[in-house]
Amino acid sequence: MVDDGAAVNEDAIVRNKLTVFWDDRVLLHDTGVAFGEVPASPLVEIQEKHVENADRLINMRSVLERGPISDSMAWAQGRLATIEELEAVHPRQYIDDVRKFIEAGGGYLEDNTVVSGESWEPLLAAAGTSLEAVDSVVSGRSSCAYALIRPPGHHAQTAQAEGYGVFNHAALMAERARAQGVERVAIIDWDVHHGNGTQEIFYERDDVLYISLHMRHGAWSPTHPQTGSAAEIGRGEGAGYNVNIELPVGSGDAAYRRAWQQIVEPVVDQFDPELLIVSSGQDASAYDPNGRNCLSMRGFHQLGQLTRELADRVTGGKIVAVQEGGYHLSYAAYCVHATCEGLLGLPAVLEDPIGYLPDDPQHGDSGINLTRTYLSRNWEFYV
Ligand SMILES: [Zn+2]
Repeated sequence: MVDDGAAVNEDAIVRNKLTVFWDDRVLLHDTGVAFGEVPASPLVEIQEKHVENADRLINMRSVLERGPISDSMAWAQGRLATIEELEAVHPRQYIDDVRKFIEAGGGYLEDNTVVSGESWEPLLAAAGTSLEAVDSVVSGRSSCAYALIRPPGHHAQTAQAEGYGVFNHAALMAERARAQGVERVAIIDWDVHHGNGTQEIFYERDDVLYISLHMRHGAWSPTHPQTGSAAEIGRGEGAGYNVNIELPVGSGDAAYRRAWQQIVEPVVDQFDPELLIVSSGQDASAYDPNGRNCLSMRGFHQLGQLTRELADRVTGGKIVAVQEGGYHLSYAAYCVHATCEGLLGLPAVLEDPIGYLPDDPQHGDSGINLTRTYLSRNWEFYV
């Protein structure tokens, strides 16, 4: 584990290690009791915690520390972001308003994003630790890094908290890489929800490609904004650089593989980024309270492995992942381990304790084919 103030372990530079950036302070963001998909109920004796809680992250850490690939992990200390660093994405007025709201005791920033009076430092720790992770990869200190932080960030827009998130970590990381001379950055977001915040931030930009694989909500859970359609392709110079793949509810390992091979891989190859940023959520698992897609640990291993293969071909192996959703207290943690096995190019060695569902390879095709139609309008190579 991380010692106080520990510097990056020298082993982290070794190519076959994954450097996990961690800061204990993110655990102090208190979200309280049940909310959302598992609301507080007078019928049950013991209330659930809010699904976005510190326990989920503690389990993700412990499975990585105790699981079979623990020797391939190098742990590194995160840090607090500065206000100036947040300003790379978020206007000063928004940052100040959030801080004042927290200092006044907190509450709901919007319908589903709660903060407590102690949340300010944890939010700075989540952002700063994400920046440490991207810095380590851009500088070459590690080739593959993972910012294990909370809350998620991909719903946060420039001046609007949303979906448990206040600051958009993937966007901060992309801007940081750009500021350090990385010309093209690709963000691949496989959290089960659409990363509407990240989309908004880069919607008119052609230097940051955003690709999201997510669940089409349909009749289920109308509470979330219904963004993320294949028709949202970007605007102006950004046209063609925003790629949404809406997979129907129930899409599993095979559907995600097909979406990757038919869309993610050819588009990223064509874009030729110098860095891959992964918005790594595990809420597309079959057992997640906040999602209705059906990935197993095998599916997350596959996503990690496909990312590894793509990065080896396109970015010289440079990958930096940041934690987004994933709300099943233990299975999401197992799926983080599976993701990291794949990112390291290792075989799937941790056994899946519960995952079995019959999988339908054609399940995602309606969403995949729609995205292909829109891609063919902006990407000449795409047929
Ligand atoms: Zn999510």
